[in-house]
Amino acid sequence: MTTTPSLGSSRRVVVKIGSALLVDQESGELKHRWLEELVADVAALKARQKDVLIVSSGAIAVGRRLLGYGGRALRLEEKQAAAACGQVKLAHAYQDVLSRHRIMAAQILLTFDDTESRRRYLNARSTINTLLSAGAVPVINENDTVATQEIRFGDNDRLAARVAGMMSADVLVLLSDVDGLYTADPRIDPSARWIERVDALTSEIDAMAGRTRSSDASGGMITKLAAARIALGAGCHMVIAKGAVDRPLSAIEQGARSTWFVAGASPLAARKQWIVNTLKPRGALIIDAGAASALKQGRSLLPAGVKGVEGDFMRGDAVSLRRPDGAEAGRGLVAYSASDAKLIIGHKTGEIEPILGYRGRDEMIHRDDLVLFE
Ligand code: GLU
Repeated sequence: MTTTPSLGSSRRVVVKIGSALLVDQESGELKHRWLEELVADVAALKARQKDVLIVSSGAIAVGRRLLGYGGRALRLEEKQAAAACGQVKLAHAYQDVLSRHRIMAAQILLTFDDTESRRRYLNARSTINTLLSAGAVPVINENDTVATQEIRFGDNDRLAARVAGMMSADVLVLLSDVDGLYTADPRIDPSARWIERVDALTSEIDAMAGRTRSSDASGGMITKLAAARIALGAGCHMVIAKGAVDRPLSAIEQGARSTWFVAGASPLAARKQWIVNTLKPRGALIIDAGAASALKQGRSLLPAGVKGVEGDFMRGDAVSLRRPDGAEAGRGLVAYSASDAKLIIGHKTGEIEPILGYRGRDEMIHRDDLVLFE
């Protein structure tokens, strides 16, 4: 059994914050004091060299009051209008509080498509990686204003899990109004037992969530288990903990009651499995012997080592790597479309920009996006 994961041993953490923690449901005002506590914890994690990403709800809850909608049920377009107004205020609050710790806030608004479609996925991933290496804290929400019913996540639990998977995070923290998973809803059933740790998402675990009452479909235990499934599949551990306490992340580290969902594989191993087992190759790159041995030493694939391009693929698609004798040497996510790849193969990295007219990635396939076969 894997040892119990912890925030202390993590390298990259995604923290999901629900509306109820951040916004006073009556007045629609942001809870600044709570935000300050949370951000103090975020700053402390960053001081320990951990990357932190925040997935925050609250845009609609803030915006509905700004637009005078009160507490009534909203139509989709009213929610989207509310999100447009509320998100500005939300982002400003994060910027303000993070800047007191000299941390830059970066707003990222995503739709389901951005984490699903290969090309956008690579873009979002590398932009967020760039922000993290610059020391910023990405503050992420769903792009509610443009997302239509079909392309919405609709709940930030699953969005946060997708982000955690996309960014190869090792821990996803869901700050919630409950302190973990119980065998039944503890507010209704006094015999409900707390579950300390979950290693496999069995039907028995699903049944526990089904027994949890939730007035609001988003944010209930069912979406949290859906998030766990996504996170664990990506090799990311997940913890559900109570958010409405001072310094909620420190509380987890100090042993406050919470439920850990433990991933079996590491994020990198899970990502490589996904590349090989889930994605269908859209084409092939023929590599030369020099490239084949460089890859074996753990290097990325550069355009100079590619001799031929087959198939019609887009940037971000999976492709096969083939040796000159035709054997498949591995698979990876390619950083250029087939048509651009054809123009730059055999060339040095410095020649990419003059040839294509834009400065793309140095690598044809980055080593993190590459799986070699024996
Ligand atoms: N994106 C929504 C908002 O910011 C929240 C969705 C959710 O809470 O799950 O208001």
